[in-house]
Amino acid sequence: MTEPGGCFLPYGRHQIDEDDIAAVVSVLRSDSLTGGPVVTEFEQAFAARVGARFAVACANGTAGLHLAAMALDLGADDTVIVPTLTFLATANAARYVGAEVAFADVDPATGLMRPDDLQEAHAKVVNRKVRAVIPVHLNGQCVDMEAVAEFAGRHGMRVIEDACHAIGATYRTRAGEGVSVGACRHSDMTVFSLHPVKTIAMGEGGVVTTNDPDLHTALLRLRNHGMVREASGFVQREEAFDADGQPNPWYYEMPAPGYNYRASEIHCALGLSQLRKLDRFLARRRELADIYDRALAPLGLLLRPIPRVAGCASGWHLYVVQIDFNIAETSRAALMRKLLDRGIGTQVHYLPVHRQPYYRSRYSNVKLPGSDAYYASCLSLPFFPAMSGGEVERVVATLADELVLAE
Ligand SMILES: *Cc1c(COP(=O)(O)O)cnc(C)c1O
Repeated sequence: MTEPGGCFLPYGRHQIDEDDIAAVVSVLRSDSLTGGPVVTEFEQAFAARVGARFAVACANGTAGLHLAAMALDLGADDTVIVPTLTFLATANAARYVGAEVAFADVDPATGLMRPDDLQEAHAKVVNRKVRAVIPVHLNGQCVDMEAVAEFAGRHGMRVIEDACHAIGATYRTRAGEGVSVGACRHSDMTVFSLHPVKTIAMGEGGVVTTNDPDLHTALLRLRNHGMVREASGFVQREEAFDADGQPNPWYYEMPAPGYNYRASEIHCALGLSQLRKLDRFLARRRELADIYDRALAPLGLLLRPIPRVAGCASGWHLYVVQIDFNIAETSRAALMRKLLDRGIGTQVHYLPVHRQPYYRSRYSNVKLPGSDAYYASCLSLPFFPAMSGGEVERVVATLADELVLAE
């Protein structure tokens, strides 16, 4: 399987150290496994790290997107704009609340939704209210959020950032100010994933950030079955209060159903421990990206890294190259199988979501050529902090070998 001297390199992998294990073990020895102080500590640390007022931990990034859609009260009368070059969950979050999806195209070079793509997607929606947009910071690079916020403001739309790839990313405003992804400067909420293949791991986990106290309250309620426990929020006075006007000790109310989307103490202990390493992981990812860029340069037009977006310090979730398979004279599938035989895991992120059977049958005749072009040539190479520079060079040498052999 693997060449002598090298172990298998997946396209992404978590990194767990002894102190992460100790943090989890300490929760396991404690009195609370869920709904305790570590959840709050993690949420506060996360909010502080990204510069938001509030952070709500939840079961995973998908749950976070669903919570955000519910908190905005999106429903069957609404349409949500979603770039088609993303993971399934971004679009599915709209469908979970009954909203329709209007797919936006992306830049064929970066895979990011451009302001023009947003405008075009919006213009195509007739006779329906476009209530929200979910820009996706693909690969860790930033969407032009200032432009998205301006457009959304003009058209009465809310904004949920899908930052599942972009924890730790920052972008520069036109005025030259640095903004942390998650600070919600140009959005209502930002959603993160802490799945092990992402930059930091909780096992399964997600976080939603916001600066809006009402959205924060809604997120907390919806994460926990839709339950209201504060007496000030009770509407059924007869049920809620005793003869003296005191709230009944057992009592809670549910104005509308939510879900059990909580994150446990165990998961949050890992999230908190990993959060402390975010800067170190990001620095290492940046170094590895630079090594890749340099090593790949001689392959020139046949293969090039995704161009870096000006003004964005990427969260570097993935290292993606675009390969011209017309010149390469090999198919992507054949190349991926050859690389796998030589111990190198690669992946394609992503088949445009509008081309999934469910969305094809729901919305026929969607044509988004930018995303088709991006998809046709993209390949995610092994990329994780524990990789060595030598391993990056091994990947590049193997790629060069296979691409040249194919000619
Ligand atoms: C991973 C991911 C999600 C979903 O996150 P989970 O934690 O796996 O549920 C959503 N959107 C994007 C862009 C992702 O990469």
